[in-house]
Amino acid sequence: MKLSTKLILFFSGIGLVFLATALYIGHVSTVNILEKQIRKELENYTFHTMDKIDRMFYEKYLDIKTIARDPVIASRSSTAGQITERIKTYQTADPSYASISFYTLDRVRLADTAGKKIGQQHPFTSYWMQLKDDTDVILDISASNSLSEYVIHFVTYVKDKDNASFGIIVSRIALNVLYDMLKELSAVQNTEIKTEIDLVDEKGLVLYSNYNTKGILTETSPDWSFVRPLLDSSKRIGSKRHRHSDVAEEEILAFSRENGYRDYKGNNWTLVISVPVKKAFAPVIQLRDRMVMLSIVFGVVGLTFIFIFARRMTKPLEILSHAFTEIGKGNLDVRVNIQSKDEIGQMSELFNKMVVDLKDYNEKLLTYGIDMQKNNAELKSKARLLEMRDLESRLFGRMSELFQACNDVEEASVVITNTVSQLFSNDRGGLYIYNSSRNLLESISVWGSPPPQELVITQNQCWGLRRGHAHVMSDAIKDLSCQHVRESGVPYICTPIMAKGESIGMLHLLLDSLIGMTEDQHWIKEKEELALRVAESCGLAIINLKLQESLRNMSMRDPLTGLFNRRYMKETLELEWQRSLRKFTPIGIIMIDIDHFKQFNDTFGHDGGDKLLCELGMFLVKQIRGGDIACRYGGEEFTIIMPEASVEVTTQRALQIVDAVKHMHVMYKQQSLGIITLSIGVAVLPVHGTDTETVLQSADNALYRAKREGRDRVCVAEDAGGQSIYEEVL
Ligand code: GH3
Ligand code: MG
Ligand code: MG
Repeated sequence: MKLSTKLILFFSGIGLVFLATALYIGHVSTVNILEKQIRKELENYTFHTMDKIDRMFYEKYLDIKTIARDPVIASRSSTAGQITERIKTYQTADPSYASISFYTLDRVRLADTAGKKIGQQHPFTSYWMQLKDDTDVILDISASNSLSEYVIHFVTYVKDKDNASFGIIVSRIALNVLYDMLKELSAVQNTEIKTEIDLVDEKGLVLYSNYNTKGILTETSPDWSFVRPLLDSSKRIGSKRHRHSDVAEEEILAFSRENGYRDYKGNNWTLVISVPVKKAFAPVIQLRDRMVMLSIVFGVVGLTFIFIFARRMTKPLEILSHAFTEIGKGNLDVRVNIQSKDEIGQMSELFNKMVVDLKDYNEKLLTYGIDMQKNNAELKSKARLLEMRDLESRLFGRMSELFQACNDVEEASVVITNTVSQLFSNDRGGLYIYNSSRNLLESISVWGSPPPQELVITQNQCWGLRRGHAHVMSDAIKDLSCQHVRESGVPYICTPIMAKGESIGMLHLLLDSLIGMTEDQHWIKEKEELALRVAESCGLAIINLKLQESLRNMSMRDPLTGLFNRRYMKETLELEWQRSLRKFTPIGIIMIDIDHFKQFNDTFGHDGGDKLLCELGMFLVKQIRGGDIACRYGGEEFTIIMPEASVEVTTQRALQIVDAVKHMHVMYKQQSLGIITLSIGVAVLPVHGTDTETVLQSADNALYRAKREGRDRVCVAEDAGGQSIYEEVL
């Protein structure tokens, strides 16, 4: 619920409670005052009316006494006519008398103002029954036979001079006299209010009623039951608010009991007036209704004022609340415009200042955040770079270390493949090396899937090789593509491998990891630099290995024929001998010497001799199996080591060579050097010796034996019984 609604409800509630309380108190007070006034007024009316009745009766009481004491009437000697005349005089004097009659004590009517029933005896009616010797004046109400209406009778004895009763005088007043008096009372009352008037006797019998004429002298007044208890407490005047059991409406009832007047004691009659409360309080109810109407009008006006006031009070709070909500949503441009000088005005000023500060801090924070993000990205990038550098350095270190352990380029190519595939883990590539004739480049290593398709390329197919420095292709439209690259859409780098100022090959990288990232030249640059370092490292390693290889070749091969030299032959023979000892296999040795070689030198010159030696070397390589080793033993002597060859096999091979060499044609300076023959000595380990030196000597001996026996032949060394060596070893 909004604050304004709460305030409106709060103030309205208070207002309504006060208004309702004021209305209620006002209404109740007015009702009480009015009730008191009404009761007082009704009491006064009843009292005065009853007093008037008493006075009238007192007059009639005096009258009847006067009539009874009239000299004419009180004279026994008066005639009926005289009496009649006399009573008529009294009637004329007071027209309220309906009639006046004179009776004998025997109830015979002697005289009557109306002249009716003269001489007739009166029956025993109620007042006759009441007559006693000491009766003063009887007042009796009863239906008059002669007048056919209710009549008030005043009756008294007529007494002579001796105070002896000899007749009674009866004056009659129509009950209407009372009616007229009470009607006056009714007329005095507000005609709009239905006032019920009852005059009752001491038993509550209705003597007069302005609303219940049928009940006169026959019914008890319905109000009697309320009045009687009050009369019992000897109260003569009073009032009461009551409700009849059969009627829903309340009444105010006032009564006054007959009080008598001077020596007239009265009849204990009671005058009762009752007024319906609703009618009596009609002005109050009208006033109340008006008050309610006025209250509603005032209430509406008041509520309107409360509403306006509450709105004025809560509007700034709503503005502030809205502003706070906006801040909650992150809108720091919100400002409140409250000009009031009160606390809310001060609050709004402070709020605006707070928002400005907040925005300022926020902007600073954002700047710091952006800087931090930038720094963070830079740090990350640097960390990644450092990681890469670290990995590179470790891989480079390991590659260098492995290169040290490599014996040849073939082994190095495995190391290169392993290292480069880690350095360029998401890329593919190949390492190309010039062949010995330097007309082609052959791939010694490829990696990635699928690897580069061209395994042999020419220098002209690669822009990197042609230009002598790295060629980068990152944009197929702007950059030149090499012919050896079959794939399109993949950026690549061709880095020539330089060693000692000379190009020895090329490192080719297909950069799959940079597909779609070629806009950022930074990464391509990184790759290019890394490729350069790899190429440099590999170049140095390869050149070193090649140098090592050539040095090694130089140390173990004969430079003229390319065959292994004697030192290498002896080392190998020793090695093979150790191996054959474990395997129990023999080693065949063929010792070859060219016959009369000196003559070739002499005939064709030293170069011709060299040429022949060279050709024979190649001839021998062709004559032996893959595992056999052909060596130049020295001069024009050659040796063939045949692992696992028996005496027979070795001899067989030697014979084959002796025969085959005769078909060898060596040309030197466009002339044939002629046919050569060979002398061969055969020895087998361990048959012809139990160690390498011995067996070589045996073979040499056999060779010289072949020389001695006429050359162009094969001699097998004499059996030295060396077969048993296996048994020794075992
Ligand atoms: P024999 O049939 O008895 O073996 O006669 P020969 O002439 O072959 O043997 P000899 O030992 O008398 O001569 C060997 C000759 O081989 C001596 C030397 O001049 C020649 N010679 C040794 N080494 C080389 C070489 O490297 N090149 C050339 N062209 N000749 C060599
Ligand atoms: Mg010779
Ligand atoms: Mg020789």
